[in-house]
Amino acid sequence: MNQPATAHTSQTAQEAALRRTFAIISHPDAGKTTLTEKLLLFGGAIQLAGTVKGRKASRHATSDWMAMEQSRGISVTTSVMQFPYNDRIVNLLDTPGHEDFSEDTYRTLTAVDSALMVIDIARGVEPRTIKLMEVCRLRTTPIFTFINKMDRDGRPPIEVLDEIEDILKIECAPITWPIGMGRAFKGVYHLLDDKVYLYEGSDNEAGGKTVTLDGLEDPRLKEIAGDYYDELLEEIELVREAGSGFDLERYLAGEVTPVFFGSAVNNFGIRPLLDSFVEWAPAPQPRETTSREVVPTEEPLSGFVFKIQANMDPQHRDRIAFMRICSGHYKKGMKMRHLRAGKDIRVGDAITFMANRREAAETAWPGDIIGIHNHGTIAIGDCFSEGEDLSFTGIPNFAPELFQRVVLRDPLKAKALHKGLDQLCEEGATQVFRPLHNNDVILGAVGTLQFDVVAERLRTEYNVNAGFEGVEVYTARWIYGEPREIERFRNRMDTGVAEDHSGALVYLAPSRVKLQLTEERWPDIKFANVREFN
Ligand code: GDP
Repeated sequence: MNQPATAHTSQTAQEAALRRTFAIISHPDAGKTTLTEKLLLFGGAIQLAGTVKGRKASRHATSDWMAMEQSRGISVTTSVMQFPYNDRIVNLLDTPGHEDFSEDTYRTLTAVDSALMVIDIARGVEPRTIKLMEVCRLRTTPIFTFINKMDRDGRPPIEVLDEIEDILKIECAPITWPIGMGRAFKGVYHLLDDKVYLYEGSDNEAGGKTVTLDGLEDPRLKEIAGDYYDELLEEIELVREAGSGFDLERYLAGEVTPVFFGSAVNNFGIRPLLDSFVEWAPAPQPRETTSREVVPTEEPLSGFVFKIQANMDPQHRDRIAFMRICSGHYKKGMKMRHLRAGKDIRVGDAITFMANRREAAETAWPGDIIGIHNHGTIAIGDCFSEGEDLSFTGIPNFAPELFQRVVLRDPLKAKALHKGLDQLCEEGATQVFRPLHNNDVILGAVGTLQFDVVAERLRTEYNVNAGFEGVEVYTARWIYGEPREIERFRNRMDTGVAEDHSGALVYLAPSRVKLQLTEERWPDIKFANVREFN
């Protein structure tokens, strides 16, 4: 896929070959926001990264780019950040930082071709990293690794790499290696280029001021490393011998991860990372549908929606559906078929993401994301094409971990409540379950904050006053099996069977024990904790 395009290849093939679409995965506080900001700086997307402090400020700064977006009162630019680097076009898909919205993160990971894992040298592998890697595994997503905060005292690098290999089950191939750490951090040695990049304080790379030494024999390195020099040579020797070396094929197969060290906040170690990233990371990959594999170079447009973002302005129920282009290209004003609705729509005002330019782009190519305005007609998992009936697979719906029963305070508002819940469900803001045996409405979420958001949005957007109360549900499992067996299950169970908002059958288990017993009693039924949209 990474072959350079030749004169004979189509424009779609050429544009696709340039794209690198990825997301950053990390545990909160590892440095994702900081690294994102520095990557944008390298991409020329923002001029003065150093002046942007804190998350809120950076959101504000980055969302200033598109006037169109401002006039609509929404902030979507930070969801997709596109920038050119070394003749490639990088699409960085942002994932929400708060863990209550991790479902959104999981689905964003279905729209990328690779991921960059950020690890804090002092903290090593953390819970969120483990969970996100599990999601990446579902599609064998190739992983780059950046070990951050080398300017602080942390754990020995070799120990952290061992931990990554043990816990995340991926082999590490260091590409750069740190020279010291904390106050004694001197820089990194590039194992492939045989060069030393010296760390000299702040913001040295983007300004082109990084001092480079030729190899480990350079006398200046001996001077800088001092007593540590011999130990460094030994360590690098060890890493060279122990490591299997970097193998592009094995990286693309998700078996090995190239590892880079640095300090995001000091903008150090990022250039070698980005240089290798645009070289090795996969261009847009073929995608499975229920009928066939779709290759990016096919001329007709196809894509799927992985995220819906509501308008910040509650007066307009305008929403943006984020579609990943899988093949062909988008052209302003083109007609495309919304396959679930069976309708052709003309899209003249899609948002495209060109962080380096102010004007909205007229076209978008495989690997790019476009934002389509709609009023609740488009749902997560929906597919678009130029006519062919394609249904992309693998966009997951994860079983929620928290459940509440909806209490409607004004019984006359039942219709508005159901409409609101269905729409919020399609956005992925919550999951709704309707038990077959009573009239309850049960909401599922992965974080408590989601319930507050739903209550607030029901009130402001749908004029529905609703609250929540506890309900005896431990977990949800989607039910798969032979139709006859499913029918038997449905009839035999007195309680606990429900439909999700799409009508799929779900078992709501009141306890872990009950789930186990039910699974044992129904060996021919599969109780899945993930439902795929298609
Ligand atoms: P996120 O939650 O993963 O997005 O993490 P942030 O980028 O917000 O960083 C969390 C904290 O770590 C912030 O206070 C950053 O300034 C700090 N930080 C990020 N990178 C580095 C680094 O390389 N060195 C040090 N010392 N601090 C860092």
